Amino acid sequence: VSIAALRHRLRTLGAGPSHEASVLRHWLQARPQLPRGAREDRLPAPLHAALPLIEAELAGLVRLRSSHAADDGSARLLVELADGQTVESVLLPGRGDKAGGLCVSTQIGCAVGCVFCMTGQGGLLRQLGSDEIAAQLALARTMRAVNKVVFMGMGEPAHNLDAVLEAIEAMGTAGGIGHKNLVFSTVGDRRAFERLMSVPRGGVRPALALSLHSTDAERRARLLPRAPRIEPEELVALACAYADASGYPLQVQWTLIEGVNDGEADIDGIVALLAGRRAVMNLIPYNAVESLPFARPAWEAAAEMARRLHRRGVLTKLRRSAGQEVDAGCGQLRSRGAAVMPPRSRRAPAQGGAGYQ
Ligand code: SF4
Repeated sequence: VSIAALRHRLRTLGAGPSHEASVLRHWLQARPQLPRGAREDRLPAPLHAALPLIEAELAGLVRLRSSHAADDGSARLLVELADGQTVESVLLPGRGDKAGGLCVSTQIGCAVGCVFCMTGQGGLLRQLGSDEIAAQLALARTMRAVNKVVFMGMGEPAHNLDAVLEAIEAMGTAGGIGHKNLVFSTVGDRRAFERLMSVPRGGVRPALALSLHSTDAERRARLLPRAPRIEPEELVALACAYADASGYPLQVQWTLIEGVNDGEADIDGIVALLAGRRAVMNLIPYNAVESLPFARPAWEAAAEMARRLHRRGVLTKLRRSAGQEVDAGCGQLRSRGAAVMPPRSRRAPAQGGAGYQ
């Protein structure tokens, strides 16, 4: 279901804008509800009567099946949906005592089929509703303070655009997440860029992450076989146009795979596309998965690539993919969970994962 349907339901129960905002705020910020007496004074009677059921339904959208903490302060969460399907969220550590981030899933499976990603190997099983996406934040906040949400878990957000943008809007308003701390991640999709560009001034405009992985069109098409065919130059230009409009730098995601996209030609390609742009290159050394023929480069080699890009005018960060000590990456927990505990409605095909896009 959708957050729009929830809003509609609240309105038909007599909720005004402030009641509606209050219900969503309590849900998405995992706040305790007002005591019953105080609620009676403040809410229209039909809404007051229906609220316990609505709250129970919201609480039942997701539940934590298991949590797997890592030494770096992150934790992978295997999250069960009402139909028994599972997705993964990752709690990301904050700096010092600051609140941390959350990586959410937007689909069960993924249709892009990136050859290095086990999630992509099983195809798309189903879309998540905007309420199921937002509920991952509500659940995480029962465990830890969260002030940033990145849409980099299972799924391609551009393939579930309406639901993702609806969840972003709710998180950036009732959820209280700063707009620049909402990071829409995509392999690149014209419709997604258009929709983001059309968010009105004052609306919730997220930051943008572009999963590039190669600046060579042919190689990129082999790595991301079902991503829209847009030349890397145009892709970066479209993404940078949104970065300029939003005022937040473009985050470029580069899953660094040994011998695939870590060579001289890759450095030259990145410099040609990104030097002088309002963009940050995030090099993310690949998390090897046993059944896939790709290897993680040595950390020092990745660090040297980052230094060289930096020297040539590309602001570059070398990132660890959170939770890698626990598991190889996004999709692995789901795969294992499905093997030992099939969903109630239907058995999910085995999946795996490769980490952030
Ligand atoms: S890396 Fe991301 S876009 Fe590619 S198949 Fe995996 S989940 Fe989908």
